[in-house]
Amino acid sequence: MRPFAYHRPTDPAALEAILASLQSEGPPTSARAQFIAGGTTILDLMKLNVARPEVLVDINSIEDMTGIEARVAGLRLGALARMEDVARHPLVARQYPVLAQSLNLAASAQLRNMATVGGNVLQRTRCTYFRDTSWKACNKRNPGSGCAAIEGYNRPHAVLGVSRNCIATYPGDFAQALIALDATVDVRSTRDRRTIRFAELHRPPGERPDIETTLAPDELIASFFIPAASWTRRSRFVKVRDRESYEFALAAAAVALDMGEGGVVNEARIALGGVATVPWRAREAEAVLAKRRLTPEVAAEAGEAAFRGAEPHKFNAFKIALGRKTLERALIETAAIEV
Ligand code: FAD
Ligand code: SF4
Repeated sequence: MRPFAYHRPTDPAALEAILASLQSEGPPTSARAQFIAGGTTILDLMKLNVARPEVLVDINSIEDMTGIEARVAGLRLGALARMEDVARHPLVARQYPVLAQSLNLAASAQLRNMATVGGNVLQRTRCTYFRDTSWKACNKRNPGSGCAAIEGYNRPHAVLGVSRNCIATYPGDFAQALIALDATVDVRSTRDRRTIRFAELHRPPGERPDIETTLAPDELIASFFIPAASWTRRSRFVKVRDRESYEFALAAAAVALDMGEGGVVNEARIALGGVATVPWRAREAEAVLAKRRLTPEVAAEAGEAAFRGAEPHKFNAFKIALGRKTLERALIETAAIEV
């Protein structure tokens, strides 16, 4: 048995007091304190002995964090909105299809009914060496211990954004849709409230794979804002995996296109999943498409550009070809959407 304290603040003042007590903690992802939203990741990791928080803060009674508000300027999602509620919201499905599809293709209906969008973007990697504590060498779980995956079985691992210390894949789907649509994140703590670009939330592994986000230990994601733009309606999420449902991505592409006359791309937004260590914005591929007619040949060029810097390991080189084809398909299918 491993004792831990459990708090369930029911009003803002109680939450503030708890957040204030967390300020002295270390980096958030190895922190002694963790939040419970849906609990579908953190409770798993505690049972596996990977996460060993001394303090659990259940945030489900905080009222103003579950909203789904679609306005002219954009969409605001409370961090505690359930994945299923967001995916099924008619305005989200119609105006921001890439968001709804990324959620619908994730996990199972049971999980989506429990899990929140805030918890989703902060889920931890599925690297088996990270989740199995019988493996000592894991820089993410046990800083400085090495990386068992680099010389081990690395089929599900990343080919983009890797470092010599960690090649773990960022596992979620929703984050790719958020980064493609230029979402922002509202963060709150006792010290202040700040808004950051979603692209600034996750940190690549670099020298410190154990520090996964730019959040401080006492910071809570309050909401996400997704601006309504000329590319949001013509958007799509394509996910390829080992089985048709209830599986993480081997490769995924979130695409949003602003298109002009004759199939010419005015602006493209592309993010890749299943292949990178963090939610991955494919700016090289976006640049290939700008002001060009989106033909299969141009889509293939964009796929090529997206993976130019890829670094495969022994078992995952197939992800380069798979990732390119996934992006090509997503581009062609997105261009065909009538808006
Ligand atoms: P929790 O477990 O409650 O929290 C997760 C982490 O986020 C914790 O560290 C917690 O401290 C932190 N946290 C939570 N909310 C906040 C907040 N507001 N502010 C700051 N920190 C916070 N996901 C996919 O995207 N695609 C899949 O295909 C997929 N398949 C799955 C299959 C299985 C079998 C399982 C178990 C999970 C799968 N998932 C998948 C992951 C699932 O979507 C996540 O477990 C879920 O979204 C996490 O949300 P939660 O609210 O339950 O998070
Ligand atoms: Fe750990 Fe990252 Fe190596 Fe997996 S890839 S064993 S998470 S350091």
